[in-house]
Amino acid sequence: MEDCLFCKIIRGEIPSTKLFEDAHAYAFLDINPFGKGHTLVVPKFHAEQLFFLPPEELAGVMPAVQRVACLLRRKLGCDGLALMQLNGACAGQTVGHVHFHLIPRYAGQPAGWAPLEGEAAREAKDFEALRKQILG
Ligand code: 5GP
Ligand code: ZN
Repeated sequence: MEDCLFCKIIRGEIPSTKLFEDAHAYAFLDINPFGKGHTLVVPKFHAEQLFFLPPEELAGVMPAVQRVACLLRRKLGCDGLALMQLNGACAGQTVGHVHFHLIPRYAGQPAGWAPLEGEAAREAKDFEALRKQILG
């Protein structure tokens, strides 16, 4: 879709730290991470919300969700991972293109959800170092 932020990222019109791409899916690091390695996996098909994504497109993107989750676990050594997918402003959705948040979780982390701050944020926003660690 012409004017959609994530469609522009998929087309390469807006830069992103890409971790994976195939015919159905595109995965890149979130610009404002809730955890080190916070990744967004999006279907290449533009649909604003899950309600409107054709089932075959959902089936196309889910293997990428699992593949990237395994990659993050293997390369970052996270102890767990939260999968989050928001639909509608009332659910906290801010970008109108279906996306899955993959948020690595580490033992001992405080519970709850908030953008990282301080040294943890600086580390999680060193996207080039993370890309090398995950893909290297
Ligand atoms: P939502 O709240 O819609 O579920 O999540 C949207 C996510 O997209 C947020 O976590 C936000 O940080 C991320 N985001 C917004 N704009 C950009 C961008 O230009 N690049 C990247 N990599 N992530 C973005
Ligand atoms: Zn889009």
